[in-house]
Amino acid sequence: KYHNQLVELRGNIRVLCRLRPWIEEDGSSSDRRPAVQLDPDDDGLVMVSSKGRLHPFDLDKAFGMDSTQAEVFEEVSSLVRSTMDGYNVCIFAYGQTGSGKTYTMEGPPSEPGIQQRAIEQLFQESTDPDWDYTISASMLEIYNETIIDLLDPEPRFKLEAKLQSDGSLHIPGLTQVPVKSVQEVLQVFSTGREHRATESTSMNTRSSRSHCLLCITVLGQNLVTASKTSGRLNLVDLAGSERLSRSQADGERLREAKNINRSLACLGDVIHALRSRHKHVPYRNSKLTYLLQDSLGGNGKTLMIIQVAPGKQNVRETLCTLTFGQRVT
Ligand code: ADP
Ligand code: MG
Repeated sequence: KYHNQLVELRGNIRVLCRLRPWIEEDGSSSDRRPAVQLDPDDDGLVMVSSKGRLHPFDLDKAFGMDSTQAEVFEEVSSLVRSTMDGYNVCIFAYGQTGSGKTYTMEGPPSEPGIQQRAIEQLFQESTDPDWDYTISASMLEIYNETIIDLLDPEPRFKLEAKLQSDGSLHIPGLTQVPVKSVQEVLQVFSTGREHRATESTSMNTRSSRSHCLLCITVLGQNLVTASKTSGRLNLVDLAGSERLSRSQADGERLREAKNINRSLACLGDVIHALRSRHKHVPYRNSKLTYLLQDSLGGNGKTLMIIQVAPGKQNVRETLCTLTFGQRVT
């Protein structure tokens, strides 16, 4: 693999795959027919067997069923560092509902995911005596192309992202909480999650139909040279990428499904355009890409984690998910 050369050519976008292990919902062990194989000799090769054929996908790296949260975070750690050095970073988890997006991003308390590990690293590194860092957090949800401030218990008005003259994005009215410790940020985000849950009676279904963004802004000032940096880390648990069959969707569900499909397709288009160095990048086609344009483009860095389930019963969605990943690789 010509990895270093490719990184140069393709800009700062990396695409990983994570295969989740078998879970109870996959049925008893006799029902578990595997459809996804990783190649032990090729780090990024994912093979999917469907209808007697093997479909290969070549991503930057693939994590198998036994991968740990710490191993996945090793791929993220340099991006957290970049945020402190003044870059805008996006980390996405993409995949069908049940494929492990939330596990990878948030994780259970015993196995914390990228969110907590990133926050711990930020605070650890912010003790550098030559630097003074100011860290703040916001948390929002995009549901049906509407931005919802998850840190505002009583959202008062409709939020809109505004492009500033310097090319950065600002959302007037969005709560931004200054934070001084790991515990404080974790508390802020856990409050946000509670707001997200109480918005709807069936939290699970609703949360799989909206994008959830944690944004951590880091302002740095060098105490020796007085130079300044400003970076933002965007951690995005995307809405489930599954297609709804027509029979499943009534009016409201159909509208949600269309909005999700459109915004995920648009995310793919934007990353594809950036990677192919197209002149026109269609940020405006969805709220998600519009508000992340200052992190996706320019000197931003992006990591896409493509989540897949292992079984035959998921193979159609797995093929769609990996096709999306392959397109942006
Ligand atoms: P999604 O957010 O994509 O809908 P979840 O993260 O909720 O999916 O994962 C679905 C189920 O699979 C959960 O019960 C989760 O705990 C489990 N799971 C997902 N990935 C892993 C993993 N790497 N190790 C152990 N359990 C996992
Ligand atoms: Mg989830």
